[in-house]
Amino acid sequence: MSTIVKGLDRKSERDNNVLMYNKEYYQKNKEKLYKRHKEWRIKNPDKYREQRKRWKRKNPDKVKKQQNRYIKKYPEKVRFLVRKNKRRRDNAEGSHTFGEWELLKKQCGNICLCCGKKEPEIKLTEDHIIPLDKGGSDYIENIQVLCHNCNSKKHTKIIKY
Ligand SMILES: [Zn+2]
Repeated sequence: MSTIVKGLDRKSERDNNVLMYNKEYYQKNKEKLYKRHKEWRIKNPDKYREQRKRWKRKNPDKVKKQQNRYIKKYPEKVRFLVRKNKRRRDNAEGSHTFGEWELLKKQCGNICLCCGKKEPEIKLTEDHIIPLDKGGSDYIENIQVLCHNCNSKKHTKIIKY
């Protein structure tokens, strides 16, 4: 009996040591491990997607937490991606990235091209010069920077400011 307990103890102690060692090793080599994993991810996108899917299925709570953290950190980007997904669902032709949109805003001096008001007084939105339902694309060339107000006033008219 005591040998079994002893054996178990030794086993759990060993497991514990392995765990501690892994943790310490991870902390010490965080950047190296992260870099290696990133390289692996780039080389094996399909495997990574599968792995990620499995992990998500097993850890719904962690997924929720990660999402909330991301939304808090990048609210602009999340709103952008929500709009982008909607346009994809609506079968818009083409697309543009968050980076392209950010650059366009910067080039316009972060002001609304119609009323000239500046953020944060107003909220800048992506306006499609030729509206999507009139055959306009979602490429950055068809996007102009308007505030929410001017965007709604323009509605489905074709105006390039
Ligand atoms: Zn405006």
